[in-house]
Amino acid sequence: MRIALLASVTLAFSFPTIASAQDVPATPGGQEALEILREAIDVPTVAGRGKVPELAAKLTQRLVAGGFNAEDVRFVPVGETGYLIATYAGRDRQAKPVVINVHMDVVEARREDWQRDPFVSVVENGYVFGRGSLDNKADLAMIMATVLKLKRAGWVPSRDLVLGFTGDEETLMATTATMAKELQNADVVLNGDGGGGELGSDGKPFVYSLQAGEKTYGDFRLTATDPGGHSSRPGKYNPIAAVGAALVKVNSHRFPPQVSPLTKAYWEGTAPSAPAEVAGAMRAFAANPADTAASDLLSSRTEYVGIVRTTCVPTMVDGGHAPNALPQSVSANVNCRIFPGTSRAQTLEELRRVIGDDSIKLEIIEDGSLEAPESPLRPDVMAAVTKAVHERAPGLAIVPSMSAGATDSAHFRVYGIPAFGVAASFLKPEDEFAHGLDERLPVATLDPGVKQWETLLRTLFK
Ligand SMILES: [Zn+2]
Repeated sequence: MRIALLASVTLAFSFPTIASAQDVPATPGGQEALEILREAIDVPTVAGRGKVPELAAKLTQRLVAGGFNAEDVRFVPVGETGYLIATYAGRDRQAKPVVINVHMDVVEARREDWQRDPFVSVVENGYVFGRGSLDNKADLAMIMATVLKLKRAGWVPSRDLVLGFTGDEETLMATTATMAKELQNADVVLNGDGGGGELGSDGKPFVYSLQAGEKTYGDFRLTATDPGGHSSRPGKYNPIAAVGAALVKVNSHRFPPQVSPLTKAYWEGTAPSAPAEVAGAMRAFAANPADTAASDLLSSRTEYVGIVRTTCVPTMVDGGHAPNALPQSVSANVNCRIFPGTSRAQTLEELRRVIGDDSIKLEIIEDGSLEAPESPLRPDVMAAVTKAVHERAPGLAIVPSMSAGATDSAHFRVYGIPAFGVAASFLKPEDEFAHGLDERLPVATLDPGVKQWETLLRTLFK
């Protein structure tokens, strides 16, 4: 640590014009990660721009230069994008491989909205700015720097490590679907696009979350129709009123509280650092899902409501055609975030029962969303993640989590392959700008991040 610190100070003083010390990682691994991160940000891998192959080519070049066999690095085009697969050959080539997954694409960003060009990386005041600096090029760069370092050191994993970098995670996930199908013999997936460390406002690590499940996304359409007519001659039935009444029922309906092995671990792991009034409820709910006082209290808080139960909420209404006409057609969208293990079809049936009005047509909007189970926590993965995280933050609480958003992991989980979000980015909540304006990554997360990935891989595949 001391040697590393000296090196960074020397570097800063030798080249005072390039950057201040906080903008330069202290270790060679961190420096290489920063270089790869900047190169990746500078390629605008937004859907529709056809730039993912360009980034994949740059990554391929680095992997081959770093000692990967050229035939072990393969780009598979899918439309204007594609995915990259690189095999790091292990000692036992027959054993099921481990997939290390991140995505190369990023969400759109408009120059006029940003303070800086989102597709020109800038390092300033201890941050790397640019679209994708966090989501997901940060862990992409740290993983690249880690495997290149391991390769140069002559390290050989116990079995094959397969780098699987997707190219449309933020939009269609067609590359994910194709890649997961190809890699469905994988033993486990380590995803750099989920989980990660949270820093307090003092910059000290507060908690590390390991993502092991996702809620299922579901949109449902409610429709009511009527012949209509002149508004001066109303009849008994009015589709706006009917859909309105249905939406009131949906909005006030509470699905049954649920506790799964994953969310039980989440509540128990979160309780010790939670405020006293909620900590008791977390422990009580984890011990007894039927404790309604506990589930009511947790549901009353927006940060926990999504983890207690399936939620459904009206999000859009469209209806009527003139101020002086009886409406002929009304439709509404109800958006649900469904607890893993429950299907969208089951959720539809519950909505139908709650609404209890046959005049309203109810249907699932098919958007390709997956219904993936949560991944059972694996002792070997938990032990390796714990070792790697505790090296950078001794004793830090490691809490398994279920996320409300979707990642590539669901595509593996539907094949029964456990997938864990184990990102090495540590952030303050106020630095979390993924998908947003002026996305940025603290440079300081790169040195320990590369070390975290290295220890994770060396421990799990020694
Ligand atoms: Zn992402």
